[in-house]
Amino acid sequence: MTNQATVASLLLLPGDGIGPEVCAEAARVLEALREAGKFECALETALAGGASIDACGEPVSDAVLAKARAADAVLLGAVGGPKWDHLPSAQRPEKGLLRLRSELGLYANLRPAILYATLTNSSSLKSELVADMDLLIVRELTGGAYFGEPRGVENRREGRYGFNTIGYSEDEIERILRTAFTLAAKRHKRLCSVDKANVLEVSALWREVAERVGREFPEVELSHIYVDNAAMQLVRAPKQFDVLVTENMFGDILSDLAAMLTGSIGMLPSASLNADNFGMYEPVHGSAPDIAGKNIANPLAAILCLAMMMHYSFERADLASAINQAVRAALEKGARSADIARQGDTPLSTNQLGDAVLNELASLL
Ligand code: NAD
Repeated sequence: MTNQATVASLLLLPGDGIGPEVCAEAARVLEALREAGKFECALETALAGGASIDACGEPVSDAVLAKARAADAVLLGAVGGPKWDHLPSAQRPEKGLLRLRSELGLYANLRPAILYATLTNSSSLKSELVADMDLLIVRELTGGAYFGEPRGVENRREGRYGFNTIGYSEDEIERILRTAFTLAAKRHKRLCSVDKANVLEVSALWREVAERVGREFPEVELSHIYVDNAAMQLVRAPKQFDVLVTENMFGDILSDLAAMLTGSIGMLPSASLNADNFGMYEPVHGSAPDIAGKNIANPLAAILCLAMMMHYSFERADLASAINQAVRAALEKGARSADIARQGDTPLSTNQLGDAVLNELASLL
């Protein structure tokens, strides 16, 4: 935890594609906080993803991992791109991200899906279904099928056979549920746990543990939903949810689905936290090679990552709120990047949208 008097150490991993462009705008926001005397930080920048492969042959080096461990928080832009798509999967930029997540023990991925009133028309759903939507998906990030063993492709008598393993220990389920209950207790006190308990034993255990942990949080209303129904309900009536908690793969799919309800993936921040509340913050979007280098990427997800960082890593609700308000005010005054512009809007460049947020922030600090 840091306050005005201490200096926070932040590691910036801009990554590839639009990562450096959106991180530059986030860095300007940090500089504005520093100039206003609100938040002192020592910002170090390092390579990750394809940029790191080009420089040192691996998507994240041990040295960068050590820097991340030593920092108070990490902001990562995005990794990946066509230049590295030919590499075997174990050497690709995305592996660097998985390594950071698993070696830093970042088991809790928090993905808010908030629809700003001014962007209601940008959603893929009818405005009455999504107006003022504010839900939080808590995804388990270091277990399940993406990490489970055994895994592989084998030659069997009947032909080639591919397999993965979804497994969760009771402890892993308990800690992510406890995180989700704690967050729900600070919001609207409704937690919906997503599983497939009618088919999967691992989900039956998940549900049992959810019930047990829930008894420690009597103020939070716990419900359960099967993942297929959750997908349906998210596009039918997303505002029924406050906090959703689920395992890694279900969370991967559902959080991208929820992302589209908000209009653009360029708006969505995420936080990945470990047991010590250390956090790595990342926009939900990828490196967007189709628009990289054009100065048209939406920097708001990266800027909103800072709001999450202020909240979760530094307990600076005041600064989190100022950043959120600055983004909201800029949008209310019509500032739009191309991805959220409607007919008749003049889209702003990445830097211009950054300027618009900084202008609003100046009056809030
Ligand atoms: P993507 O999120 O990069 O892009 C999807 C679409 O959204 C594209 O049309 C893109 O132009 C647009 N978009 C994304 N972010 C935007 C922004 N800030 N402003 C405006 N438009 C934006 O997903 P993809 O195309 O599937 O993947 C591209 C690369 O990114 C791949 O190499 C993939 O592996 C990688 N990726 C990385 C991460 C990460 O680093 N966390 C996440 C997802 C994908």
